[in-house]
This record gives sequence, structure tokens and C-alpha cells, in this order.
Amino acid sequence: MAHPAEARLVALREQFAEIDIDALLVTTPANVRYLTNFTSPSDGMVLVTKDEARLMTDGRYTAQAAEESWLTVDILSNETRRAWQAYVSNLVRGTLGIEAAAMTVAEYQAFKEKTDTEPTLTHSLVENLRLYKSPAEIAVLREAAKLTDDAFTHILEFVRSGVKEVDVALELERYMRSNGAEDKSFDIIVASGTRSAMPHGVASQKVINTGELVTLDFGAQIDGYHADMTRTVAVGKLSDAHKQMYEAVLEAEVRALNAVAPHKDGKEVDAVAREVLERAGLATYFNHSLGHGVGLNIHEQPALSPVRSFMLEPNMTATIEPGVYIPGDAGVRIEDLVVITDDGFERLSHSDKGLLEL
Ligand code: ZN
Ligand code: ZN
Repeated sequence: MAHPAEARLVALREQFAEIDIDALLVTTPANVRYLTNFTSPSDGMVLVTKDEARLMTDGRYTAQAAEESWLTVDILSNETRRAWQAYVSNLVRGTLGIEAAAMTVAEYQAFKEKTDTEPTLTHSLVENLRLYKSPAEIAVLREAAKLTDDAFTHILEFVRSGVKEVDVALELERYMRSNGAEDKSFDIIVASGTRSAMPHGVASQKVINTGELVTLDFGAQIDGYHADMTRTVAVGKLSDAHKQMYEAVLEAEVRALNAVAPHKDGKEVDAVAREVLERAGLATYFNHSLGHGVGLNIHEQPALSPVRSFMLEPNMTATIEPGVYIPGDAGVRIEDLVVITDDGFERLSHSDKGLLEL
């Protein structure tokens, strides 16, 4: 039966000749999941040779791996696991590549000591494939983003003066999981008042008060794929200064979003948002990149960064998320998720962005 792994293995093997390897050992969890569909990829690895591919895991996953894996499953005994470098090396004729970013120095040294081979360090071979999403992957991301939108609508009834940040986060998670998410995409950010000036302010025990901005950054994970969206809302009436901050971030977000196009440098899109905030006198408070790709990882390529070029191409994903964070005062971030298409982009996040004073 045809499954996505077949085309992925073909595309992966096409890269073998360029870097002179005959096989690749895949140990990055998201890459293992991408090639196998195995949902406990941290406890598995994939060996891809020129004519074979197998998922290797251990006895705890015998039933699960058999049910989920697109590839042949090899259950390693405890003895084999202890000497796995030798086991893998014996399966390979020729040069073995390993993923440099996913092996510790100790594991690499053991590889050289326990086998008489020196593996070739490789970089981003599977990630090169994951960068371009298939129609099936985009469909799952669309579903995850829709559930994220629905959770935002739901939580608007819940965000009130007197409610704790952590209870908002728990309610978002409960809603998403109860409605089909396998997990939350990452630790939910609910940052109110002065905490909204912390770009990664994970929900705390703080109680939300009237007059505060509340940043909600969250997403649903479905089949391993991560949605990611941020909305900032007000509880009660906002000060004029905070309203202006909100409007500036909103304009930066909308203008950057509309600048997204195929064959455009992410750095240029980042500059569009930064220029709007510059004119508002707020650019020094925008202290992170404009956005990132999402997929089997919450943060992946392309980077939309002020310091590095990355060409946006059809079927890549990107978040657009400018923010302004004034320490000791408040912060605003607005984030949408898009897929780049042949002639522009498809927005996956659809929640309203106008200022809401709850
Ligand atoms: Zn986010
Ligand atoms: Zn993000």
C-alpha cells in the first residue's frame, strides 16, 4: 500500500550521492516520526540504506510500532541496545551518515570506539524535505489552526478580571484536547499586565486585573503537527498609550502578512514589520524575529529574521508575529500562521485581530 514514507525515502536517498554516504541513521525525533509515523519517536531511530529502511525501537513499543509504523520494525533486545552502534554499523555496507545535530559527543565517540568506522556528519537532510509541506500535511495544519481559532473564541468567555493566568491556560488546553488535539503545541503563554512584556511568559499564578493587556500564545497539536497563534486582548478599558501600542503592532502584523509571497526573502518581510514599529517609536521593543516555520516541530525553517536571509517558497509554512514589550509596563504580540502558495499565501489563522476590550 502506498504511504508517504515511500516518496520521502526516495527524496532522501537522492541526497546520499551528493555527500557521499551509502546510508543514514536518523535519530532526530521529528525526523523519525516524519519517516515512520511512529508516535514515540524519541525512543526510536531509523536506518535508511540504499535499498532498505527500518524503524528500530525496543520491546516496550512492540505493539505500538507494529500498528503505527510505515516501515519494517526491528525490536532491539536489551543486549543489542547496549551495543547499538556496532549493530547499526554491521547493517551498513559503505559509509554511514549520522545526523550531527541529534547525536551527543559521547554517542559519537562510542560510535568510533565500538565500530571501526567513522560516521559522516550530515546536516538537515530530512529537514530539507520537511520544509515543503505536502497537501496532506497542510490539511492537518489547517485542522490544527481551526481548532486553535475555536479555542480562542471559547476562551473569550473565560478571560475576566479575577481569573488566574494558569486557569486560562488549563481551560485552553482542556478545550483543545477535548476537541481532538493530541496535545498542546507548547507550554501555553498567558501573560497579563506587566508580565505581558515577557515574550515567553508561560501562564503563572498571577490573577488578571481590570485595565490589563493579556497575551495568549498557544496552539493545538494534531498528528504531530503544531498550530501556533497569538492574540492580545484587554480586560476592561485600556489606557490610550496601550491602545496605540496595540494599533502599531496590529499594523505591523497586517502589513508584514500582506508582504508574504513566494520567492521573497523572509528578511524583507521582517523589515516591513520593523519599519512600521520604527515609525511608531517602538522598534527597540521588538526584540525577536518576525516568525518561523511550523510542522512536526513548533520552531523550524524558514526563519523570518532581521539578520539572516531565507527565501520563502510555495508549501513552506510561516508565522508572522511582531511584538512590542516594554519592561515594567506591558506588551502586545499578534501572530498568524500561513502557508506560502504559488501566488501568495493561505492564512490558516482566522481569529479577529481588532482590539477586544473584554
Ligand atoms: Zn506563538
Ligand atoms: Zn510562533
